[in-house]
Amino acid sequence: MLTVWVYNLNQVKSSRMALDINTKGKNLFLTLATVSLVLLMIITTLLWWFISPRLHEINEILANLSLTALRIFYVILIFGTVLVYLTCFLEKNFIISNFAVRLFIRVIFPVTVFLGKLVGIGKDKIRESFVHVNNSFTNALKKKFDPKKVLILLPHCLQHTSCGIRITVNVDNCARCGKCNIGELCQLADKYNLKMYIATGGTLARKIIIENKPSFIIAVACQRDLVEGIKEVFPIPVFGVLNQRPEGPCVNTKVDVSKIEKTLQDILKNEKKR
Ligand code: SF4
Repeated sequence: MLTVWVYNLNQVKSSRMALDINTKGKNLFLTLATVSLVLLMIITTLLWWFISPRLHEINEILANLSLTALRIFYVILIFGTVLVYLTCFLEKNFIISNFAVRLFIRVIFPVTVFLGKLVGIGKDKIRESFVHVNNSFTNALKKKFDPKKVLILLPHCLQHTSCGIRITVNVDNCARCGKCNIGELCQLADKYNLKMYIATGGTLARKIIIENKPSFIIAVACQRDLVEGIKEVFPIPVFGVLNQRPEGPCVNTKVDVSKIEKTLQDILKNEKKR
């Protein structure tokens, strides 16, 4: 009996481990998003409470219909929020990923920034958390892409300031001297046969995307540029990688190249996880 009990306990433990819950960096944005949704429910309830006596006076059926509509709206909201959490933490596609990204980018993100401001949380912290949430939605799609349809977009600030080579026109001009991460990234692009560009600004990034028509983008940038980029190119999935700024913003920034390679192994056709 004891052996069976221990066996069952181990089964439960291993199934929990198999769930592989990924919470990294997402809690701030999701907490603010949940608070926003709760506030939305409170405001709509108060609104209904104020106007309901008038509605009852006008028409009893209209009043009951509006109450039913409100209840359905709440059920959808709660159900949707649970699915968003599951998609986000388990990184499994619950058919909601695409809809959730749309809703979170267009509606929830500006509200969370506003809420954050009220309670003294900086924009960049919320943006960073949003990028983690966005990456989870992207991972949840569980899609594989042809390398020809994958684009890597890099910011100009990755290039070392002492380097005089013009890599913005053609990143292959890089001499791969090792002073900055561009050289390693060129090797990566060659290894996986990918297109890679340096975008000096939003206009050039847009032009590159229009010309290449990618199905998947890996973008390296700071919090603000990543969020703007993710918003702008939607519905193209973007995996955002934040650059590191040991010398301050926009100067000799760095990126974790292994993170980009891991993502490539996850999303490219004919590539296996290593
Ligand atoms: S790795 Fe390339 S871009 Fe970076 S400093 Fe060397 S030559 Fe310039």
